[in-house]
Amino acid sequence: MPERWRQPFASSEAVRRRMSAQRRQGTAPEMALRRALHALGLRYRAHAAPVPNLRRKADLVFGPSRVAVFVDGCFWHGCPEHGRRRHSVNGWYWPDKIARNRQRDMDTDRALAEAGWLVVRIWEHEVAAGQPALASLAERLLAAVEERRPARPPRSSRRAAG
Ligand SMILES: [Zn+2]
Repeated sequence: MPERWRQPFASSEAVRRRMSAQRRQGTAPEMALRRALHALGLRYRAHAAPVPNLRRKADLVFGPSRVAVFVDGCFWHGCPEHGRRRHSVNGWYWPDKIARNRQRDMDTDRALAEAGWLVVRIWEHEVAAGQPALASLAERLLAAVEERRPARPPRSSRRAAG
């Protein structure tokens, strides 16, 4: 039987484990976006570093087009609509943590833009399953990826290279 005062730590450990599993597998909103993109025939790398020597991972990476997509959790990244709801709990810690996340996000955006990438940030509430915005976001992403896709080399030179 754990001491009573330890229980909040146990529960935050469970939260931490769940969050870290979600980072590996993708959150439900991210998976909803991925299914919508797949349905449009778009392919990507998931949870990959767009720029090898920049140690930042994007949720979806469209390599040849240099488009990096981040599906930001409303709470952890400070969504204006949902980010503040839970701040009253542990208020001494969360706003600071979220401010650091946001700083890091801006840092990542700047570094990727400097390396020639288009950075797209989407709030998870925008792509939660069944959201009307989901389909239009997927279409906009498809357009951006296609617009930035490098032209294919002519057939003859592809054969020579292969
Ligand atoms: Zn939100």
